[in-house]
Amino acid sequence: MKYSQLFCPTLKEDPASVEVASHRLLLRAGMIRQVAAGIYDVLPVGLRVIRKIETIVRQEMNRAGAQEILMPMVQPAELWKETGRWEGNGKELLRFKDRNERDFCLGPTHEEVVTDLVRREIRSYKQLPVNLYQIQTKFRDEIRPRFGLMRGREFSMKDAYSFDVSLEGMQESYRKMKVAYENIFRRCGLQFRSVQADSGNIGGSQSEEFMVLAQSGEDEVAHCPNCGYAANTEKAQSSIDFSTLTKEVFVQKEKKETPNQKTIEQVASFLGIDPDQTLKVLLYHTEKGIAAAVLPGNRELSEIQFQRALGVSEFRPLAPAELKGQGGVEFGSIGPIDLKKAIPGVTQVLFDTLIHKGRAYCVGANENGFHWVGAVAGKDFLANDEPYNLHKVAQGDRCMQCDGGMLEVERGIEVGHIFALGTKYSKAMNCVFTDENGKEKPMEMGCYGVGVSRTAQAAVEQNFDDKGIVFPPAIAPFEVVIDVVKWKDETLQKHAVELYQTLLDHGFDVLLDDRDVSIGVKLKDAELLGIPARILVGHKGIEQQQLEVKMRWAADQHWISPSELVSWLKENLEKGIDA
Ligand code: ATP
Ligand code: MG
Repeated sequence: MKYSQLFCPTLKEDPASVEVASHRLLLRAGMIRQVAAGIYDVLPVGLRVIRKIETIVRQEMNRAGAQEILMPMVQPAELWKETGRWEGNGKELLRFKDRNERDFCLGPTHEEVVTDLVRREIRSYKQLPVNLYQIQTKFRDEIRPRFGLMRGREFSMKDAYSFDVSLEGMQESYRKMKVAYENIFRRCGLQFRSVQADSGNIGGSQSEEFMVLAQSGEDEVAHCPNCGYAANTEKAQSSIDFSTLTKEVFVQKEKKETPNQKTIEQVASFLGIDPDQTLKVLLYHTEKGIAAAVLPGNRELSEIQFQRALGVSEFRPLAPAELKGQGGVEFGSIGPIDLKKAIPGVTQVLFDTLIHKGRAYCVGANENGFHWVGAVAGKDFLANDEPYNLHKVAQGDRCMQCDGGMLEVERGIEVGHIFALGTKYSKAMNCVFTDENGKEKPMEMGCYGVGVSRTAQAAVEQNFDDKGIVFPPAIAPFEVVIDVVKWKDETLQKHAVELYQTLLDHGFDVLLDDRDVSIGVKLKDAELLGIPARILVGHKGIEQQQLEVKMRWAADQHWISPSELVSWLKENLEKGIDA
């Protein structure tokens, strides 16, 4: 490709109101443009990156035995009604009517459509297992589309669906997909971690997310360097070494006045104690009444774990107004002692495992402006209750898998997610087969997604510097850029064109910068676009019969003889960024 013909409108200035580096860089490098909130044009340089990711995805999916199909984006409501997700999916599902007033939606995922296909076409165990995938545009009307391609409303996803005759078969399909995903993200040149995940509203028993590690990632993952345990902090469990708690200060149980002290910080500083000597109570509205979570004052609640422990579907924080007519206690003075009596609507009180039995705490007295100090866990409250893992894992917590490791918490971007679904969809949609004995059974399913467009941006979020993007070679828009010190210089131009042709003949993806602009501008653009190898054609190199080559991530350039260039480039592109 010649730069003069490339449609790549780069920006000199940073675009306004852009929150993450990768979004800014995709805009500046002329790779994407916004059409509407969460909806984008992908320009040639951006599309090259996406196509390269797609190629890797296809190769690994095919290698794992999956077959590519293409399902429609527009899906009839009837299918979604069969699984209950027409009502269940809320506003994220974009619905509309056709000219005959029939209900449709834009596909946010394709479990219903693929299950409908398979139930119509597959009847016998002899036709199973099968794994079908597509690379398709999805639409989800996200509440907060943001960060460019990272959280779009329209985005590209590879989704695969496996159908098996048995649980063991399904687990084998799942395992193959896990291997394929590891290959995909490794080949893309990304630093990633696979972590245990919550299966959310997709459902199913087992699920793992693939996280590209990056500071600005929306997700938080906990990881044990000792045993390798890794989980999304929504789902991760941890314990602590109780001997690391601050020294107990309360001598006896007494009620203290704490006027206008509402938050844990306020109460703790008013009483001159550490927040880990306090307990907090968080109230949630559920279909089974008000549920209370009690946990140490210095810890955060994992809402997902709390909701799971309660086993409820309606779940949201209780609004202060909803406490009216509930005994008069206000937020800030609520405590675990006789909580159900103090707030009649409370039906369930769950205690966190980090509350240390025998330890004396400061807790709300269920009387406005008062706290108990010296209330003992296991005696004054939590006497007969089984504690639950309700807290969010924090850096330094103890790993529960090996009991020795200290958990590290890092941030990540979810680029892939695999689910062992079981029979949730096949039962709901009567997707059955006949087994060897002529008996009808529902198929065992799995589903597996890669966010293709999100992966493209996550690669940038993980790899950039103050000059621009640093693309991993396997997914870079071009592998090599040829910059000519002065394009109008005939000797230089001749050399550059020859070199361009040679590299093309050897199968490299090359950009020849044939623009009549200053070398400074050319070098800056090459850096902004993140092209891995740059060859500078100038008189010095021609005289010395050497080529000046620089890898985008390296500090220094190398002088390479023309005969060695091809193998040198191949080797260094293969090694990638961390070489
Ligand atoms: P998230 O938790 O980020 O909202 P999700 O769990 O809803 O994602 P899945 O249903 O697991 O997403 O979809 C599979 C993959 O599709 C995700 O791992 C992610 O890479 C990608 N993806 C999901 N939502 C978006 C989006 N709004 N924009 C871009 N990619 C997305
Ligand atoms: Mg997910």
